Amino acid sequence: MKIAIGICEKTNGRCSTMGCFRAYNNREKHFSSYKDVDTELMSFFSCNICSSGGIENLSKIAKRLKDSEIHILHLGACAVNCKADKLEEIKKIFTDLGIDVIEGTH
Ligand code: SF4
Repeated sequence: MKIAIGICEKTNGRCSTMGCFRAYNNREKHFSSYKDVDTELMSFFSCNICSSGGIENLSKIAKRLKDSEIHILHLGACAVNCKADKLEEIKKIFTDLGIDVIEGTH
């Protein structure tokens, strides 16, 4: 099963992202349901839909995930707690393409 992780661009340069990778590598926290499932982390990208051109950029990313048969997206807490109040808009971009969105990584 191919999965992706999306985080908020506002964390760039501040977050090591190790929390997400540790949880995924150990199949714990929001990845615990994959303990007995063969998964592949295919993408780790930043949301930037509150920046200029951001909706188009994120839509392109969603399309590329879809084309690569990635069916599950985990959003990091930084995106789930979106300070621009765009969580539902972010999720819709992916769910409209049939990609399941799970709120949380670790
Ligand atoms: S829309 Fe929310 S999650 Fe996306 S970059 Fe802006 S603040 Fe971060």
